[in-house]
Amino acid sequence: MTPKKPCGPCTACCTVFTVVEFDKPRHTPCQHLCATGCSIHDQPRPATCTDFFCDWTLSDWGDELRPDRCGVIYVTQSWIDPHHKLIGGLMSNPYAYLSRVSKKHIERLVRAGHVLLLTWEDEEGVEYHPFFERFRYPALNVDIIARSLKDLNKKALSRVRAFYENRSTTGGK
Ligand code: SF4
Ligand code: SF4
Repeated sequence: MTPKKPCGPCTACCTVFTVVEFDKPRHTPCQHLCATGCSIHDQPRPATCTDFFCDWTLSDWGDELRPDRCGVIYVTQSWIDPHHKLIGGLMSNPYAYLSRVSKKHIERLVRAGHVLLLTWEDEEGVEYHPFFERFRYPALNVDIIARSLKDLNKKALSRVRAFYENRSTTGGK
């Protein structure tokens, strides 16, 4: 994968993600972060760092969706079919999806038929999936979520269900 643009000043994944090679937990700044970014950028780094590109770097999405700005690191997990993706969005805070920028972007992705799994992991390591946890977060009663759940995502969900059923019967990972 070749990124279309550099990370610039963003270091979101250096805080939000686990780096197994350093025993770095999620939502904790990497020990190698410095004021200008990664202090060991020109040195050998773990594959976790060198192999990772978020969807923002791989896309033409605008600057407002850079993860340190929008609070969501979008990562394509897999293709459900030739035109639709399963996209994970790890949030740096549990309400990042409610901003104007996020709502607009989520709506665009959902309307295009992709399936989003937006997650937030709390201190106890519990992951929440706001799109499917309407009762845990009352704030989810926003129009976009309701609309997505009512119609657009229904079709997408049946595709993702079929995708996983197919994987479990073929033994794929
Ligand atoms: S989250 Fe994306 S843009 Fe930000 S540092 Fe990581 S790969 Fe780069
Ligand atoms: S080693 Fe550098 S690129 Fe890797 S997580 Fe730490 S700061 Fe980020």
